[in-house]
Amino acid sequence: MKQFNNETMTNFTMEQSNTNLSFYSLSKSDLLEKLQTKDSGLSESEAAKRLETHGANKLTSKNKISPLAMYVQQFKNTLTLILIASALLILFIYFFGEKDPSDLIEAGLILAIVFMITILGFIQEFKAEKAIESLKKLLAFKAKVRRDGVEKEVDVSLLVPGDIVILEEGLKVPADIRLLEVFSLSVNEASLTGESVPGSKNPAELSGNQQLGDQKNMVFSSTAIASGRAIGVVVRTGDKTEIGKIAQSVADTVDDPTPIQKRLDTIGKLIGYVILVICAVVFVFIMFFAKEFASEPLLQRIIHSFIASVALAVAAIPEGLPAVVTISLALGTQRMLKKNALVRKLNSVETLGSTDIICSDKTGTLTKGEMTVTSIYYSGHLYEVSGTGYDTEGEFTDGKQKLETLPFRMLLEAGVYCNNAKLTNQGTIMGDPTEGALIVSAAKANILAERGHESKPLQAAYPSTPPPAGGSAQGKNVNRVSEIPFSSERKMMSVVLKQGDKYIVYTKGATEVVLEHCYRQRHTEKELPLIAKDKKEILQINHTLSTKALRNLGFAYKVLTTAEFEKQKGKEKELEKGLTFLGIQGMIDPPRIEVKPLIEQCFESGIRVIMITGDHPDTAKAIAGDIGIKGDVLTGNELDKMDEKSLAKVVESIGIYARVNPNTKLRIVAALQKNGHIVAMTGDGVNDAPALKKADIGIAMGITGTDVAKEASDMVLLDDKFSTIIAAIEEGRGIFHNIRKFVLYLLSCNLAEVIIIFVGVILFQDLILTATMLLWINVVTDGIPAVALGLDPAEKGIMRYSPKAFQTQIIGRRMWFEMVIFSIFISVFVLGAYMLNLHQGTQSAQGAAFTSLVIFELITIYLIRSNYRVSFFSNKWLFISIIVTLSLQLVLIYTPFLANLFGLGQIHSQDWIFIFLASIWLYIAFQLIKEGLNLLPFANDKHEKELLASQTKIR
Ligand code: ATP
Repeated sequence: MKQFNNETMTNFTMEQSNTNLSFYSLSKSDLLEKLQTKDSGLSESEAAKRLETHGANKLTSKNKISPLAMYVQQFKNTLTLILIASALLILFIYFFGEKDPSDLIEAGLILAIVFMITILGFIQEFKAEKAIESLKKLLAFKAKVRRDGVEKEVDVSLLVPGDIVILEEGLKVPADIRLLEVFSLSVNEASLTGESVPGSKNPAELSGNQQLGDQKNMVFSSTAIASGRAIGVVVRTGDKTEIGKIAQSVADTVDDPTPIQKRLDTIGKLIGYVILVICAVVFVFIMFFAKEFASEPLLQRIIHSFIASVALAVAAIPEGLPAVVTISLALGTQRMLKKNALVRKLNSVETLGSTDIICSDKTGTLTKGEMTVTSIYYSGHLYEVSGTGYDTEGEFTDGKQKLETLPFRMLLEAGVYCNNAKLTNQGTIMGDPTEGALIVSAAKANILAERGHESKPLQAAYPSTPPPAGGSAQGKNVNRVSEIPFSSERKMMSVVLKQGDKYIVYTKGATEVVLEHCYRQRHTEKELPLIAKDKKEILQINHTLSTKALRNLGFAYKVLTTAEFEKQKGKEKELEKGLTFLGIQGMIDPPRIEVKPLIEQCFESGIRVIMITGDHPDTAKAIAGDIGIKGDVLTGNELDKMDEKSLAKVVESIGIYARVNPNTKLRIVAALQKNGHIVAMTGDGVNDAPALKKADIGIAMGITGTDVAKEASDMVLLDDKFSTIIAAIEEGRGIFHNIRKFVLYLLSCNLAEVIIIFVGVILFQDLILTATMLLWINVVTDGIPAVALGLDPAEKGIMRYSPKAFQTQIIGRRMWFEMVIFSIFISVFVLGAYMLNLHQGTQSAQGAAFTSLVIFELITIYLIRSNYRVSFFSNKWLFISIIVTLSLQLVLIYTPFLANLFGLGQIHSQDWIFIFLASIWLYIAFQLIKEGLNLLPFANDKHEKELLASQTKIR
C-alpha cells in the first residue's frame, strides 16, 4: 500500500483547498493520484488524518441562535414590556415624588417577576430547542465507503476527500464526488441547479470549462440519486462543496408554527383586543368615578388607574401558554423517540392523533423483513428448502427426502450473481433482504462455503472484484461488466457477467415480468422452447406459491458472444430480450407477531389499516389474511386504468393494493384525502417521496428507508415496525388531550382573575388582587403545574377512541362552556373570601382572596383531569409541582418579610375552613355541571360528542 508521508499530505491539502480544481477533467488515474487514494479506498488511519485536516463533512451553521440572543428574545413580548414600563413609572414616582417605600418594593417585585418570566421562558425554549436539535442529529445520514478494501457504513460527517464511496438509489449525495463507475445512474440536482428532471451521469472525463449542470461525471452534495448505482471518489467536503459555497445555512430549516400554535395565536390576539377594551373601561372608571381616588392629585390618579389597568392585563394574559405548548410538543417528541418514532416536524405530533387511515408497506413493517427461501421451482418440479432467517444451515428436499445432488445449482448461482447484498460474518445482511435470502439459499448449497462471506463475496459487485471461487462457480473467471438496477417500477434487475470469452446476462424479478422477456426455458441440462402453455403452467405454480404468502422471484439468463454483447451494450431493452427462463425461488417473510392484535384494535376504533405492496396480489392477500387486514384487493394495473373520480369511490372499500408502483401511492393518498380522511403513509424508496410529502403524516423507514424518503417524511420509524406507528399515534393522542387540558386550565384561571379584578374595581373600587399577586399566580402557581399537566400519561385505552374525537378544534364548544362556568365559580368563592375579611382591612382581604384563588386553581387542575380517564397519582410531576407550588404559597404567607413584600395580611384559621369548604363545594358542583353538560346536546360539538361516546364505550 502506498504510504502517505507528511509532504504529500501538505501538497494534497493545498490543492484540495483550491475548490476551482477541475476534477471533472482528470483521467481516473490522475484523479486518484491527485487525491492520493486508490480503488480499495483510504486506510482508516489516513481517513482519520484527513478528517483532522479538512474537518467534519458538514455545513457550518450560520443562523444558529445563541443562548444570549434567545434570552433577549424573551423581552420581545408586549406584556413584559408593559411590566417593565410600569416598574419604571413607579420608580420615577418614587424618585421624583413622595418617596413612599412601598413603591420601591412594588417596582422591585415587578422587576423580579419579569426576571422570572424571562428566565422561565428561556429555559423552556432552550429545552425545547435542544430536544428538537437532538432529533435532527439522530437523523444523520450514513454513507457507504470503501476503506482498507472493505465496504462499510460511516456517518456522512466522517467522509474525507479521497474516500471511495458507493452511491445507490435514494441516497442523498454526501459530498462532491467524481464518478468512477456508473450503472444507469440518474441524479436529481434540483436542489443545486433548479433542474427538476433527473439527469443521467457518465464517468468519462470532460474537457474544457463545464458548468455545474454539464459536469456529467460529477455528483454534488445534497442532490439525490434518483436511480441506479455508482462508485465515486470524494473530492470536496463540508463548506468547500458547491452547495456549501452557495448557501451555508441550508441545513437549518425553520419549523413553522403548528396548527395548535397558530390557533392559540388567534385566540391570543382576540384576548388581547378584549383586554384593551376592559383596560380602557377600568382606567376611565378609576380616573373619573372611583371615590377612593377622587381626592388624589391628577398625576397620582393617572398612575393608580394605569397600575389597575396593568393588573388587569396581567390577569388576562396567559403568559405561560405559548411556552407550555411548545415544551409539551417538544417533550412529546422525546417520549415518541423513546418508542422509536423520530418526529421531524412538530406539526405531526398534533396530526398523528387524528389519523384515521394508515397506509402501510408490507415488507419489513407488517412483516419481519427477514426473507428465507423455502420453495424452489425448477424444470417442472417443486423443491423445499429448510432453515430459518439468515442462518445458512438448511437442506433441500423434493418434499420427501433430502437431495444429494442439486439439479438447480445454476438457479442458486444466478441468485448470487444477480445480487448486491452481502452476508456478513456476523450472519446479518447488508443490503436488500430479498437479495440476502438468495445468498443464504446459495450458501445452504455450499456455493459460498469455503469463503469468508463478508470479505470476498461471490458476486462481483464491481468489475475489479477478483474471480469467484467456491462451489460450482469455482475457477470460473467471472467479472460483472454491467448492471441494469432493480426498481420497483420495473420489478426486475439484470447483470452481465464476463466468463472467459462469453458474456452471461442474469435476470431476476417478479415471475410474470421475467416470463415476458423469455422465449425459452431451461429443462434439466437442456434449453427448450417456452410456449404459451408452459408460461401458463409456470404462472399457476407461481400462484400456488403466492397463496402460501411467498414472495417469488423468477430467474432467467442468456449467453452472448463478445460480438453480440458489443452490439447490445448499453441498450437495456436489448440486453433483457430473448432470455431463457431458469426457475423460481419463493421466499417467506413472516408477519410480525405483534401486528395482528394492533390491527384488530385499529379497525375496532375506526382507524383503517391499508396494505400497499409491490408484491403479487396472492402473496399480499395471504399475508393480509394472516394479520387481519380487511377489504378488497386492487392491483396497480387496475388502479392505473381508473380516473380520479372512480378511484375516490372504490378507495373506501380497498384494503390491499398489490403490484403497485410507488407513483401510484400518491394517487391513493390524494383519493383518500379527497374523501376527508387524515392519512398516514409509510414509504422507503426515492419514488415514495411525493406520496410521503402529500400524506398528512409521511412516515419513512429508519433502517431500510432511503435518505430521500426520510427527508420527505414527517416522522421516521427507527425500527421500521408497524407497532411504532401505533405507539406514536397513541402519544400524539395523549399530547392532544394534554394540550386541551392545560389550555382549559390556564384560560379558566385567567378568566376568573379578570372577573375578580373587574368586579372588584366596580363594586369595591379597589384591586382585589395586585399586579404582583397576579404575576405570581400566573407564572408560578399556575405556570409550573401547567407544564407538568403537559406530561400527563395518555389515557389507558386511548387507542380505542374513534379518530374523529381528535379531529376537533383545540377549544371546542364544551370547553368554552366549562371555561366560563369554572371561572364564575372560582370568582364567586374568591370574592366570598375577600368580603369575609374586608372588615379587617384591605390587606387581610387581599391576602385571603389571593390564597384562596391559588388553592382553587390547583383544584381546578384535578377537576379538568377528571374529564379524562387518568388516575389521580399517574403523573408524579404534576403531584410534585402541586406540592411545590403549595409550599411556596405557604412560605409566602407565613414568612413575614415576604408577606409584607406582597402586602398580605394574616390568614386566619376561619379562612382555611372557608377555603376547605368552598373546595368541597367546587368539586361537587363541577361534577354535577359536567354530568349536566354531558346530557346537553348543544353544549358539545360533533367531536366532543365522539369523545364522550368513545369514553362511554370503553367504560
Ligand atoms: P412492500 O410494499 O411489501 O415492501 P415493495 O413495494 O417494496 O414491497 P418491491 O420491493 O417493489 O416491493 O418488489 C416488487 C416485486 O419486485 C417483488 O414482488 C419481487 O417480485 C420483485 N423484486 C423485489 N426485490 C427485487 C430485487 N432485488 N431484484 C429483482 N426483483 C425484485
